Amino acid sequence: MLMMRSPNQRVTAISCHYALWLVCFVATLLFVAPPIPAQNQPVRVIAFGAHPDDCDQGAGGVAAMYAALGHKVKFVSLTNGDAGHQTQHGEELAKRRRAEAQEAGRRIGIEYEVLDNHDGKLLPTLEVREQVIREIRQWKADIVIAPRPNDYHPDHRYTGVLVQDASYMVIVPSLVADTPALKQNPVFLYYSDRFTRPQPFRADIVVSIDDVFDKKITMLDAHVSQFYEWLPWTVGQFEQVPKDPTARKKWLATTPMGVRKLQPEWREALEKRYGPQAARVQHAEAFEITEYGRQPGEEEIRKLFPFFPAMPLSRGSR
Ligand SMILES: [Zn+2]
Repeated sequence: MLMMRSPNQRVTAISCHYALWLVCFVATLLFVAPPIPAQNQPVRVIAFGAHPDDCDQGAGGVAAMYAALGHKVKFVSLTNGDAGHQTQHGEELAKRRRAEAQEAGRRIGIEYEVLDNHDGKLLPTLEVREQVIREIRQWKADIVIAPRPNDYHPDHRYTGVLVQDASYMVIVPSLVADTPALKQNPVFLYYSDRFTRPQPFRADIVVSIDDVFDKKITMLDAHVSQFYEWLPWTVGQFEQVPKDPTARKKWLATTPMGVRKLQPEWREALEKRYGPQAARVQHAEAFEITEYGRQPGEEEIRKLFPFFPAMPLSRGSR
């Protein structure tokens, strides 16, 4: 028998139907959507160094890989590098190094900014901390990379401290109120290093840069004042640097000044994400996840570092 409904009953029936649909929709979302905060697409990465060539050594390879895939990378040098040379200094050197950094960025397709703080005199002041907070916020960073705060060079050490000190403040709206705060804390990473006190670097994420190794060398090659003049001079090797541009670039690809070697203790993280392919990897960049930013799970790491092969099959599952 067909029941005739009054308009009120019909509205109630529609509301019930809608409420049920809404409950189902929300429940589906809860189960289907993984509890991973929304990321920028493309991924946005900002890396800090004390000097205009530091970021390049630690993350030039992954930066080239991100850029090639259409992701956004910015390198920021907290000082203008105006003390890093045996004969040039001051404004003349700062100008040269800024031009070298711009050229390095251009060669791999990323932005490169050099701030005007003096080289060799960087301190973890509130003013520089606020510069760092602004940079991270303006870039809307998903990933922030910086040196660890234990290092031989005070500028490196304080760059580590400054970024560490910014790594919660970037989400606090009442601080540095001229630049909108981020909605969520980025993932903060450290570059690799060889210092062991108070504790050694831990390789959490290791990325093969074999495909872009030449690109990384081409990027480093732009810093003529550093890799061919100043750094060799500091270790008594200035006379050994070839004068010919092609020959010196080849030399750069073999010197520890230009290339951080893949360390045996990075192998475990490499194998975890590359499986059997890990054995063939020759050049890599490694990063440690700091305790002060967002802590990404494996799924998020794979989204933020879209370079790894699909999860390797575990033994026995084939
Ligand atoms: Zn440096």
